[in-house]
Amino acid sequence: MSTVVPERAVQTLMNPASVAVIGASEDQHKYGGRLLKMLLSHGYRGHIMAINPVRETLLGVSAYPHIDVTPVVPDVAVMAIPQPKVREAIEACAARGVTAAIVITARFSDGGAEGAVLERDIVSIARSANMRLVGPNCLGIISPAHRVVLCPSTALVAEGLPVGRVGFVSQSGALMGTIFDKAKEIGLAFSHAISVGNQADLELCDFVEYLIGDPATAVICTYIEGLKDPRRFAELAARAREAGKPWLAVSSGRTQAGAQAAFSHTASVAGDRAVFEAVCREEHVTLLDSPLTMIALATSLADHPATQVSRIAVFSPSGGEAAIAADEIESAGLRMAVFSDATRTKLADYYPPSQAANPVDTGGRTVGDGPDVVGESARIVADDPDTDALLFAITTTPTLHRVASDVADALRRDPASPTPRKPILYVFETGRLADTARRGLLERGRYFLNNLREAVDVLAAWHSRGSYLPPGRPVRPADCPLTAAGCAAHLPGKGTYGEGATREWLGRYGVRTNEERLARDEDEAVAIAGELGYPVVLKVASAGIVHKSDVGGVKVDLYSDAMVRDAYRRIVTNVREHAPAAVIDGLSVQTQFKGRLEMIVGARCDAAFGPIVVFGAGGVLVDILAARAIARAPADPDHVIALLRRLPLWPLFEGYRGVRLDLAGVVDTVVRVSWLAADLAARQPAGLDFELDVNPLMVADDTCCAVDARLRVAARSD
Ligand code: ADP
Ligand code: MG
Repeated sequence: MSTVVPERAVQTLMNPASVAVIGASEDQHKYGGRLLKMLLSHGYRGHIMAINPVRETLLGVSAYPHIDVTPVVPDVAVMAIPQPKVREAIEACAARGVTAAIVITARFSDGGAEGAVLERDIVSIARSANMRLVGPNCLGIISPAHRVVLCPSTALVAEGLPVGRVGFVSQSGALMGTIFDKAKEIGLAFSHAISVGNQADLELCDFVEYLIGDPATAVICTYIEGLKDPRRFAELAARAREAGKPWLAVSSGRTQAGAQAAFSHTASVAGDRAVFEAVCREEHVTLLDSPLTMIALATSLADHPATQVSRIAVFSPSGGEAAIAADEIESAGLRMAVFSDATRTKLADYYPPSQAANPVDTGGRTVGDGPDVVGESARIVADDPDTDALLFAITTTPTLHRVASDVADALRRDPASPTPRKPILYVFETGRLADTARRGLLERGRYFLNNLREAVDVLAAWHSRGSYLPPGRPVRPADCPLTAAGCAAHLPGKGTYGEGATREWLGRYGVRTNEERLARDEDEAVAIAGELGYPVVLKVASAGIVHKSDVGGVKVDLYSDAMVRDAYRRIVTNVREHAPAAVIDGLSVQTQFKGRLEMIVGARCDAAFGPIVVFGAGGVLVDILAARAIARAPADPDHVIALLRRLPLWPLFEGYRGVRLDLAGVVDTVVRVSWLAADLAARQPAGLDFELDVNPLMVADDTCCAVDARLRVAARSD
């Protein structure tokens, strides 16, 4: 069955030559009424056909009783009709040869099992006729850039459809409408905004792909509830990055409760959400908490795509407001710019010398209210080499009506363009009193925020983009055994592997492990200890016991034969008491390796994004020290180092109170574990699901060693 490639259908949807509005009406209380009206009132230049069984014209547009009898085949049909009528309408569109249909109607898979069946039906009807679908349960498409509005949102009733350079794809229709309305009020505008609804056919990524190639779009924004095709998401993110188009996202579901650590800690610390966030970071997709700050950042990035932001200059007519802003900036991980002597000297023309610094209290100036003072201050500050961006926190002041416009004019990159020479955020802390000032900015094509916290969020998210790494090129360590991924014979098959067996697999991948042997009785334990050399560690070996120390199954610091015998007996007693059902295979006698830090290095196969490694503080503290880093496997050493840098334990690798741990060894271990993970995930024919914990990896000053590990391998369910 051939289908219209999504790309072509999306091109048509975003700029159709003709549109049929099914269920069109004149009643503005109805979806079908607003659909028609919006198309007309926002200046659509193509051919509109209203479909209505009883009318000849609607709002001056020719109406037809059925899509079969329109004078031309419409490129796109849009419908907001009762759910029971949708199937028939889709059949009619399919039969007529429509390229794509937008189904606004809800109560499909969003409304239960019956709706889900109907949804599958309409998709297959469309597919068999080579037609593509948007929705159902969506709010359609708003394209200011093309003057195409296929959206019944009341947000569009107001006049004017400002054109911006931010493309927005939303999984929530109401959110798109709401943001559209609010954005307009504060000077934010879009190239295109698309609501994808249930994504029964075309999905978020189809439209992101369009935006990547769209010359009218400089920055891509998305609201994501769940990805239909996570791998495609990652591929497109790489393409957006290569195209130099920033991609921002708000994604709900942040507070996913971690799964209980049944088998591995990895599964609980590297849950789906944590992996999604890690992938976004790797692929340079910036996550924000609120849609409005996302659109604001996108708008600023459209003007300054290559600018990195960390040092902020603050100015305000209120010393108090300026001080609060400075605090917020510092606590968001940004830095207050330190002005150069030249900047301070220039500012001293207007301010007392002690105040000619960051933050600039423009209310404290020593000169009068000359029209240029605040604008000139902004220009001086913008020219300061230590300033990446400016934050103008506007409070009541006698010149309130024009102060923001003065600054906007003073900062123009050139007289013809309102784009400022450096990023600047305007925040009005004032109420309606500042409405004239707000209008002044809107007239200049500038946006503003009404809340300091939002502005700081924008700057903080911008700052986070500065720590993105170039994409890594993982190289398989020379002595890792496999040369081709998927070579089944060299990899563990399905099953649960305790410490002994897992060590062997780790050993084959070049991970350093300590020496151990299994003893079946006390005498044997003493003999092995003698061969290994004291001190030794004794641990229970039993397929039925996952967390050995929980059942009193681990004894460390054993320095003599007598201690080994004693420990042997105690372990057996403890295990019989705490895990009576477990069959004891024997006791592992192993060399003791003392490190200064215990780390966890884990791996698992994420259902969405494939194999990952996770690493951070581990050992018995694994449950309480939460900070961990996640990377996709195989991992690149530079990337691993960059992630380690962000962990609270990083100072231990740089030199902290005389401690300087084996960074190279830890990175090497993470990389090797990542290759094992990648090979397991790629194991033919279908790849394997797995959970692996190395916990702890003992880390000393110049060496490190895995002293415990477990692995579970299963068939992949997807
Ligand atoms: P489990 O995680 O199953 O409870 P471990 O083998 O990780 O058991 O042992 C628990 C703790 O004992 C480790 O976190 C570590 O502190 C210590 N330990 C275990 N094996 C060794 C070893 N070979 N050398 C030094 N300390 C060890
Ligand atoms: Mg352990």
